[in-house]
Amino acid sequence: MSETIPIERLRMDADIVCVGFGPASAGFLATLSKQLVNSDGTPAVESVVMPGMPPQVLCYERADDIGFGVSGIVTRAQALKASFPEIKTAGIPMAAPVGEEKVLYLLDPHGASRRSATLRAADALIRLTKWALPFEHHALNLPWTPSFLHKHDGMILSMGQFMQWVGAQVQGTGAVQIWPGTPVSEALVEDRKVVGVRLLDQGVDKKGNPSDGFTPGMDIHAALTVVADGPVGPIGRQLDEQFGLPDGHRIRDWAIGMKFVVDLPEDTPLKAGTVLHTFGYPEPEIFGFLYVHPDRIASLGIFVPSWFDSPARTAYRYLQHWILHPYLWRHLKGARLRSWGAKTLGESGKHGEPHLAGDGYARIGEGSGSTNVLTGSGVDEAWATGTQLAEAVVELLKAGKPFTKQNLDETYVQRRRASWVEAEGRIAEKSRDGFQKGVVTGMVGMALAGMTNGKLSLGSAPVQPWKRIPTVEDYFDGKISRGEIAKIRDACKTGNVPLHGALMDKAGWPAIPFDGQLLVSHQDALLMGGKVQAPHGCADHVVFLHPELCEKCGERICIEACSGQAIYPGDAGVPNFDREKCVHCGACIWNCSQANPENPERMNIAFRAGAGGLHSAEN
Ligand SMILES: Cc1cc2nc3c(=O)[nH]c(=O)nc-3n(C[C@H](O)[C@H](O)[C@H](O)COP(=O)(O)OP(=O)(O)OC[C@H]3O[C@@H](n4cnc5c(N)ncnc54)[C@H](O)[C@@H]3O)c2cc1C
Ligand code: SF4
Ligand code: SF4
Repeated sequence: MSETIPIERLRMDADIVCVGFGPASAGFLATLSKQLVNSDGTPAVESVVMPGMPPQVLCYERADDIGFGVSGIVTRAQALKASFPEIKTAGIPMAAPVGEEKVLYLLDPHGASRRSATLRAADALIRLTKWALPFEHHALNLPWTPSFLHKHDGMILSMGQFMQWVGAQVQGTGAVQIWPGTPVSEALVEDRKVVGVRLLDQGVDKKGNPSDGFTPGMDIHAALTVVADGPVGPIGRQLDEQFGLPDGHRIRDWAIGMKFVVDLPEDTPLKAGTVLHTFGYPEPEIFGFLYVHPDRIASLGIFVPSWFDSPARTAYRYLQHWILHPYLWRHLKGARLRSWGAKTLGESGKHGEPHLAGDGYARIGEGSGSTNVLTGSGVDEAWATGTQLAEAVVELLKAGKPFTKQNLDETYVQRRRASWVEAEGRIAEKSRDGFQKGVVTGMVGMALAGMTNGKLSLGSAPVQPWKRIPTVEDYFDGKISRGEIAKIRDACKTGNVPLHGALMDKAGWPAIPFDGQLLVSHQDALLMGGKVQAPHGCADHVVFLHPELCEKCGERICIEACSGQAIYPGDAGVPNFDREKCVHCGACIWNCSQANPENPERMNIAFRAGAGGLHSAEN
C-alpha cells in the first residue's frame, strides 16, 4: 500500500509465527504443540517474549475459517499416520480407507478435443481392438498400473474436514493459537533476516489507500517465521524475490485443480474408498480424479496444467465436459452439487525448491517444493516437512540456540534431506519434463522415471508458461478459420464477454445440458458451491502490473482462464477484477501471456495477500 502518510502500526511479539494453516503448518503445529508443555502443565521450554510461559506460537490463516482451502485427496498418509496412529478410526468426517483404484484412459466421444496424430492413431487402435480390452463407455481401464501410482493402505480425505479436525486437536493443546480470516501481507525483513510478519491493512480502498475505518495491519515480531503459504503464497513469493532461488532452480510448472463435491445418486454402485484417475479427455493434457467418501459423497475434478498450450483453457467448462464423459456420467447422472472450488497445485517439485531456511525463517510444504509430481501426492509430503521443522525447532529451543540459517540448516534441512520426502522428490524431479514435448512423451517419461527410480527421464527443462501460450488463431488452426475467429472476437467484444465459450462451441464441443443440480452455470457454482465472499475494506489482491502490456495483449488468457470469472473484460483492453468472485486459486499468476519486464520468471499479474474467497470446509 502507499505509505505517503506515516502509519502507526501496533506491534506484538511472539516466539514463532506461521503463515497459512494448510497441511504443512498443521504438521508443524501438531508436532510442536505436543512438546511445548509438560504433562503437569509446566513449560517444557520457555518463551523468550513471555518468560515463565511456554513459547508463544501464532498461526495466521488467510481464509475465513480453517479448512476453506481446496483438495479432496487420496493419500498414502504415511506421515499423517505417524503423527496420528489412530487416524483411520478417529471418526474424521468424509474419511475412508482406499479401496478399489483404477486408472482410465478416456477417449473423446465427440471428436472435439485437440489430439496429436500419435494419439489419434492409438485411439483408433483401441477402438478397433476394444473387444479384447477392458474397454467400456469410451474408456480403457488400464489393466496394469505402476506401483508408484497406487495408494494402497492409504486414505481418502476431505482436506477441509481433516484440517478442521486437526485444527481442533492442535488448539485443544492450548499451546498454539490459529487465527483464520487474518491474511499476512508481507514478511518483515531487516538486513536479510526475517523478523516477523505484517498483517493485512483493513479499511482501505481497492488500491490499498486508507479509507473509512482504516486499521493498519499489526506487525508481529518473532524469532522464527514459518512460511507455509502454499504454491502461490505471497510471502513465499516475496522471499523468492528478495533472496532469489538456489542456482538452477525455477518455478515454472503449475496446474489448476478444480473440483466438485457431490452427493451421488441413491443407487450408486460406487463404494466408499473407490479411487478413479483419468487422462485423455476432455483434452489429452487434462487429468481427472474421482474419490468416493462414505455416505455416497464424492470428490471429483480435473487438473489443467500450465504446459497445456491453450489460450482459452477454461477449467470450469472442461470440468463439465469431463463429468459428462460416458464412463463417468453413468455414475454422476442424478448427482447433486454440494461444494465447488479451485486451487493451484505447484508442480515444479524439487526444480522449484527455494532456500529452505534463512536467518529467522523456514519454508515448509508445497511452497517449499515438497509436492511429488510423479505420484501426484502433496499432503503427506507437506505434513512431513512440517513435522521435520517442528522436531528441529524443539531441538533448537531446548539447546537455547537461535533460529539462524546455519542452525536451521543443521537441524531442519538436514532432517528433510535424510527423509523419504527428499528421496522420493529426487526420483520425481525430472519425471514431468516430457510434457514439455507433448502428452505422449510426458506419459512415457513419467513411466520411465517411475520405473527406473528417476534414473531415466524424457524431455527438457520447462520454459516459462508465458512463452508457451500461442495466439488463439494458431491454437485453433485447422479447427476454426481465422475469419470465424475474427467474427467471434467482434461478437465477444460487443457483448463484453470472454471468448472461450464461443470458441469451444465452434470447435465442436456440445452445449452443457444444465440440470440445476449438478450441471449448473459457473456463476451458480460460485454462489451454490463455493459460497464465495469478500469482506469490505480490503485492497484488490489481483493487480495488473503493467496496464500498457494488457492494452497490447492479444490473448487476455487471464480472463479466459479465471476460475471464478473474477477477471473480466475492461475498458481500453485492461481487464477488470471483481474481488467478490475471486476464489483465491492463484491461477492468474501463471495464466498470463506477458512476461513481467522486471523479472521474466514472473508474469504481468501480482497475486497479493487477500481476504475472503471460498466458504466451504468440504473441499
Ligand atoms: C484439486 C486438488 C486436488 C489435490 N489432490 C491431492 C491428492 O489427491 N493427494 C495429495 O496428496 N495432494 C493433493 N493435492 C495437493 C495438496 O492439496 C497440496 O499439496 C497441499 O495442500 C499442500 O499443503 P501446504 O500446507 O503446503 O499448502 P496449502 O494447502 O496451499 O496451504 C497453504 C495455506 O496458506 C494460506 N495462505 C496463503 N497465503 C496466506 C497469507 N498471505 N496469509 C495467511 N495465510 C495464507 C492458504 O489459505 C492455505 O490455507 C491436490 C490439490 C488440489 C488443488
Ligand atoms: S494480465 Fe496478462 S494475459 Fe491478462 S491482459 Fe494483461 S498481459 Fe494479457
Ligand atoms: S482472479 Fe481469483 S479466481 Fe481468478 S484466477 Fe485469479 S485467483 Fe483465481
